[in-house]
Amino acid sequence: MASDDITARLVQGRECGSCTLCCRVLGIGEILKPPGQDCPDCDVGKGCTIYERRPRTCKDFYCGFLVMKDLEEEWRPAISKLILLFDGEENRVRVHVDPDQPDAWRREPYYSKLKQWAVVAVPHRTQIIVRIGDHAFAMLPDRDIDLGVLGDDDVIVTEETETPGGVVLNVLKVSEDDPRAAALRRPSPWLVPGE
Ligand code: SF4
Ligand code: SF4
Repeated sequence: MASDDITARLVQGRECGSCTLCCRVLGIGEILKPPGQDCPDCDVGKGCTIYERRPRTCKDFYCGFLVMKDLEEEWRPAISKLILLFDGEENRVRVHVDPDQPDAWRREPYYSKLKQWAVVAVPHRTQIIVRIGDHAFAMLPDRDIDLGVLGDDDVIVTEETETPGGVVLNVLKVSEDDPRAAALRRPSPWLVPGE
């Protein structure tokens, strides 16, 4: 799916090859393609049948494996069935799962690695969100939270609460007109009392 216009971002030696996972897993607003369904222009396992005139969104897209040099070969989407993306605007790591293998994120070595990232993410107030089509899970160091189906108007909020036993985190989805969504100090998706 990736473009050759912005190849400077590519990790040397990494390319899509026969992978077409993002053409199934991701939603593409430009062509009204919903997440979790093969794009009608995709020859699965081969490539884009309209490559020269594919949408701008597709031309500009590189998945995390192609641009994050610290990811090992096991994270190749064709192997892991996972697509990693860092969403800087929302301060969020998104893990998009092949809907044909919805438990791929729970397999090893991926699950343990995602949990390690969930620990590292806390001081940065970064969310780790797993997406299987419209369904979302939030990963926290000590548990995973099923957020159910995400609507277009839903906002994912992390709430930080001071308790006598220490800081407790919770992740929930709220409507974008909910005061908690309005109170977020973007790009941080966290609500911290007193800040
Ligand atoms: S998921 Fe990544 S490797 Fe696979 S086709 Fe998309 S951009 Fe290429
Ligand atoms: S237009 Fe081509 S690159 Fe874009 S999602 Fe469809 S098959 Fe993939």
